[in-house]
Parts: sequence; structure tokens; C-alpha cells
Amino acid sequence: MTGTVQIKRGTRGVVFHPETWYRSEMHRLNLVVKETAPEGYDPVITSGCEGRHSDDPWSKHYTGWALDYGIHGLTEEDIINWVDQIKVALGDKYYVLLEGNHIHTHVV
Ligand SMILES: [Zn+2]
Repeated sequence: MTGTVQIKRGTRGVVFHPETWYRSEMHRLNLVVKETAPEGYDPVITSGCEGRHSDDPWSKHYTGWALDYGIHGLTEEDIINWVDQIKVALGDKYYVLLEGNHIHTHVV
């Protein structure tokens, strides 16, 4: 566990692929998400590799290369700015998408 990002507490829980936290790409992802978050906002991982969807890009969740981050309580402007900043900071080796009630990210 990185210790930099909270994990959602909930009835379903968030399940992580055993390899996720050994991967430097995933540490970088978490770090960037944390550093670019709106002021005073603590990012929360809302989904790991627990299987809820079957379509791409969800396949990356199953193998531990994707994480979702919650956006609860943020304004639309904050969210759009945050997504933009994450994209710029991570570059083209990562895929970042605002997906309904969360930000989906995965390593390409
Ligand atoms: Zn996702």
C-alpha cells in the first residue's frame, strides 16, 4: 500500500491485484493523483481489480493495471481541471478518463 491515497470504505470494498503495489507505474499514478488533486481534497481509490464490468478498458482492472478515483464533493470545474492535470503530468503511457462518478486510470 502506498500510504498516500485513501481506500474507500464500503460494503463492497476495494480489491487489489496482488501485483499492483509492486509496480512503479502504479506508485507514480497514485503520486500524481495525490499531487494534482484540488486543494484540500484527499483522493480516494474507489475501485481496484474487483470485477464489475467486462468491457475494455475495464480489462486493465482485472490485471491490476487500473485504478479508479472518486470525485465525490468536487465541483465540475474542479473535476475537469483535475483530470486535465493528471493527463498532463502522467503523459501518454497512461489512460485517464472521467467516467461517470469516478476518474478511471490505467497504464497503457
Ligand atoms: Zn476504471
